[in-house]
Amino acid sequence: MPATTSACPLDCPDACSLSVQVEDGRVTALDGDQRNPLTAGFICGKVRRFAEHMYGTDRLLHPAIRDGAKGEGGFRRVTWDEALERIATELARVRSQHGGEAILPLGYGGSNGVLTQDSVDARLFRRLGASRLARTVCAAPSGAAALGLYGKMAGVALEDYEHAALIVCWGVNPSASGIHLVPPINRARERGAKLVVIDPLRTPLAKQADLHLAPRPGTDLPIALAIANWLAAHGAIDHAFLRAHTRGAEELLARAEPWSISRAAEIADVPQSALERFAELFGASSPAVIRCGWGGERNRNGGSATAAILALPALAGKFGVRGGGYTMSNSRMLALEPLRAAAEPETNTRVVNMNQAGRALAADASPPVHVLFVYNGNPLATLPNAELIRRGLLRPDLFTVVFDQVMTDTARYADVLLPATTFLEHDELRTSYGAQVIQRSRPVVSPVGEARSNLDVFGALCERLQLARPGDPSTPDELVAAVLAGSHDGERLAGMLAEGDVAFATIERPIQFVSEFPRTPDRKVDLCPAELDSAAPGGLYHYRELVSRFPLSLVSPASRKTISSTFGQLDRRPARLVMHPGDAAARGLVDGVVVRVWNELGEVHVSLSVDDLVRPGVVMLPKGLWARATKNGATANSLSPDELTDFGGGATFNDARVEVELLG
Ligand code: SF4
Repeated sequence: MPATTSACPLDCPDACSLSVQVEDGRVTALDGDQRNPLTAGFICGKVRRFAEHMYGTDRLLHPAIRDGAKGEGGFRRVTWDEALERIATELARVRSQHGGEAILPLGYGGSNGVLTQDSVDARLFRRLGASRLARTVCAAPSGAAALGLYGKMAGVALEDYEHAALIVCWGVNPSASGIHLVPPINRARERGAKLVVIDPLRTPLAKQADLHLAPRPGTDLPIALAIANWLAAHGAIDHAFLRAHTRGAEELLARAEPWSISRAAEIADVPQSALERFAELFGASSPAVIRCGWGGERNRNGGSATAAILALPALAGKFGVRGGGYTMSNSRMLALEPLRAAAEPETNTRVVNMNQAGRALAADASPPVHVLFVYNGNPLATLPNAELIRRGLLRPDLFTVVFDQVMTDTARYADVLLPATTFLEHDELRTSYGAQVIQRSRPVVSPVGEARSNLDVFGALCERLQLARPGDPSTPDELVAAVLAGSHDGERLAGMLAEGDVAFATIERPIQFVSEFPRTPDRKVDLCPAELDSAAPGGLYHYRELVSRFPLSLVSPASRKTISSTFGQLDRRPARLVMHPGDAAARGLVDGVVVRVWNELGEVHVSLSVDDLVRPGVVMLPKGLWARATKNGATANSLSPDELTDFGGGATFNDARVEVELLG
């Protein structure tokens, strides 16, 4: 049976092209193909298991209505007509009695497909006048920093890392997420490139690195400022570049000036000599590239930390050569305007920051939420302060719809449950924030059970609520055309995509400050943007120490098993909290015991793994775990604060401070 083709729309920078094996109408295997050059014929182990996700026992097969207590997962099968009528009736009632803002759509990242998020769904919620969701759980502060400094200039192409003489992986673990960066790094290293990894965990790349800095979580800002200050003190600033291409350098360097290497080393708890070595390597190497990840943003100083990291290539003049500069998100590379498919302008209704969804769902929130519509997401497994969200989901006066592919932890609290198609069962348009491709894919198999696509369901609700209008783009082709028509370069992209059912367009790999320049109004780097300076408490680059009565930092990084919480149902093995041997010995804990991890927000009961994978003072429980992974159904999200980053409204997962003790 010949393989057919598709494209992975999951929340990953690589945007792989896929080869899909189908037998008797069922998907039997997925692998990478070569159409996206970055895919290079291989994909991650997560998506290789996609058939298990599609046909596993957790897959939702038909609509259902709650039959029992919230959270217990009892449901009664109903027809699509009954389910949609119930939802439409409730949406209309709540809107008429409480106003549209009492309706909250909630979801993020379950699919990065352009047709599955921010298309007909946005049309429905905009026309209802629903509350707007700030999708800030990831990349919001780093996105604000990249926008403020560089106007989101396109980054160094991941393939071009092989040309670098120094690669810095800062707060990113490509071995777990974005695996296609690993081969270019390896090729560069075979040619003699140095590798520096900055991460509190001994990641696979950290184990091989020439230098691994394992700072205390939340101290990336002092480190970056100290490097800036060292560059200034050691004649390693590229003043000609700064004069020609930047503004705000003097202010940045003035704010970095108090940060000596020794002071930063003390706060970050890394050896001073290692920090000096990093500064020397960075100052002396060319091409030098920083892969700036999302680990550094997940704390109260996260926006300023990312801004300071992104400032370093400008200060040291690392641009102008292939393989030199930085990579953050490349989301502007293709400049698509997905919301053009909504065919409805943005409203000015209240904005709910998804990192504070629990606060919004509280009974005394103003205005209260009466309808929660969850899709493309599993808030209980992905958002901070999960126990507050759970309390909201248990509210008897909250009507909750969950539209998902599988029975998630959040789905158990639904009043109405709707089965969603996967990307192999519906049309999709996939762009990327890493690879420079855009791909159009078609269904390769019929939907499992009665699953329906987002387009289909949100379109049906628009019809029932009499919110549909003549001329609304509705079919996949109409929606794709609407997105491309509203996008810079859309005509060229549409032409390329028209050549086949699955096509892709590639933009030339840029060389920063040769073929690609800041997209700021004056095409200069703004090293101290006024809007970020006024947004950050104490000003941009101001470091705020976190004081807590709980002694251990809890980090919850991406794992090789899940994409955020997607595929969490497939891993039946219990999770383990990883703790450094020194911290375990200090508490009389040994490998394999069951511990209680707790703070003021909640507690998690889980087995312990004693391992120097984590640095002293840090414990680790992976991101995206489902309730079944721990002994009491709580996860790291139950312990994560819902305070926000210094700007950008981002999540502060790594500000979780906890204590660990033997579960008595
Ligand atoms: S999750 Fe990433 S690496 Fe895995 S198949 Fe999708 S795009 Fe490729």
